[in-house]
Amino acid sequence: MLFECTHCGRCCKLAVRLTKEDIHRIEMLGYKRKNFVDGFVHPRMKRLNNACFFLEKMQDGIFYCKIYSARPITCKRYPFRLVTRGKNFELVSDPKCPGVGKGAYIDYRIWLASQKTTRMNFKEKGN
Ligand code: SF4
Ligand code: SF4
Repeated sequence: MLFECTHCGRCCKLAVRLTKEDIHRIEMLGYKRKNFVDGFVHPRMKRLNNACFFLEKMQDGIFYCKIYSARPITCKRYPFRLVTRGKNFELVSDPKCPGVGKGAYIDYRIWLASQKTTRMNFKEKGN
């Protein structure tokens, strides 16, 4: 698969679910839960100006994540996700992401390992 982020910021305008580990990691940076979490049973990232609380637009017009190293697992995996196909998993990408199909080839096994995903029994789809 080919992928290179263009920093368009589109994915940071989508709803982002948060795991307990995500919240803990972000709190460790010094942010208070009440300032960045919406909801309790199904916590999500708080939004500001119709985008993620942590999205920042630089003067050059490029978008950056203020908590990049501690960003939620959903953000780390985007624009890819694993879809169950019977006993297998298939790696699919969001066709609306402008970075998909551009840039360097990314080996899906290395990519999965970097996302701390242990499921290896899947087929690559597209790209
Ligand atoms: S939508 Fe794709 S290209 Fe745009 S910021 Fe997100 S990952 Fe990068
Ligand atoms: S945490 Fe960072 S990468 Fe994730 S949606 Fe917010 S700004 Fe984007």
